[in-house]
Amino acid sequence: MNDDLGLYVHIPFCASKCDYCNFYSVMPNGRIIADYIKAICTEITFYKGSHKTVNTIYFGGGTPNILNFKDFARILETIKKVFKVSLQAEITIEMNPNLVTNETVQDFRLLGINRASIGVQSFKDRDLAFLRREHNVNEAKEAIKKIGTVFKNISIDFIIGLPGQTAKHYEEAAVLAQNYGVKHISGYLLKVENGTKFYNKQTLTQLPKDEETANQYEHFVDKMNKYGYEQYEISNFAKTSYESVHNLKYWQCKEYIGFGTSAHSYFKGRRYYVSNNISNYLKNMQQANQRLRLKKGALPPHLQTRETTFSTPNDSQIYYTEPCDLFSERVILGLRLNRGVLLKELQEIDGDEYEKFIKRLQTNKELDKFLIKSNDRISLSTKGMLISNYIIATLLY
Ligand code: SF4
Repeated sequence: MNDDLGLYVHIPFCASKCDYCNFYSVMPNGRIIADYIKAICTEITFYKGSHKTVNTIYFGGGTPNILNFKDFARILETIKKVFKVSLQAEITIEMNPNLVTNETVQDFRLLGINRASIGVQSFKDRDLAFLRREHNVNEAKEAIKKIGTVFKNISIDFIIGLPGQTAKHYEEAAVLAQNYGVKHISGYLLKVENGTKFYNKQTLTQLPKDEETANQYEHFVDKMNKYGYEQYEISNFAKTSYESVHNLKYWQCKEYIGFGTSAHSYFKGRRYYVSNNISNYLKNMQQANQRLRLKKGALPPHLQTRETTFSTPNDSQIYYTEPCDLFSERVILGLRLNRGVLLKELQEIDGDEYEKFIKRLQTNKELDKFLIKSNDRISLSTKGMLISNYIIATLLY
């Protein structure tokens, strides 16, 4: 089995806050970017001596392309000092269209970055205005063109579930993407979370009802497949052999390490994450750095011992661990993929749980229309993907 490692680097900076966004991000000011890069590099060095080969690196955000050449160079240099990075590694950067310039695109390529994921969201100005995005369709198209002069592996993000989106709308988007040489498309259903500016009566009443959203999702899947963007995960579609190697690791329960505030990791059989607070992160990394100088350790502090958390001298916590249950995770994450889960693999993980799982599968006949079953695996149908949480809960509990 391929045991190569994935690295995720979280860049939590955005020029402004989009009204629907629920991700953790801050507006950069003063020295905060420089301090953050330093902290990220400290965190990376926690893993010195882990003797792992890295085959994917993913810069996500936030808006990673707010950083400059030197910032990325420093992070990548530190990564290469700590890990062996394979020559064919997939190195992705998420980009906001309105910050894309010919110069930055060239810079990223020089650094060895070879995959771009662009936050296009829609090819209709009406949608972008509804989302109150800072870019318009022309800027998105220009950004793809500029990136396309240097990058072959381009992914774009779409938001599904906006007022008035139709099958025709998605068809036009797929055709445009194809004409621009886009190889991968992610389509996310708009989820309006409490606490965002979007969470108000006026906006909520404009959004399509559940049934219409379900239709929109089915149209989206249909049109993407029609134009050769084959669905391989609930929200992800790719031309042949352009699936995201990095994101597949999440759904296949492979190891990855996340660096930076709010980043999650699955490493050495543990799941852990850093909290959403950049000031704490910066303070903790500074103190951890001092404490680490005294230790000749190979792994991050919380993995050197059997402690479940690691605290800095002032007792503020850096890492929070999450429960790890391989059987449930294989089901929850594996069923997101079109290829689904291999029954034999589930049986090998836990024979008793597997028996219960099969019993529920056989007795809950109402699930049949949402599942695709073959001799050796099960997966979700398109309708099943829309209610994946319900199906997974029924199969597991
Ligand atoms: S650019 Fe992306 S991460 Fe930043 S606020 Fe907008 S949606 Fe959120």
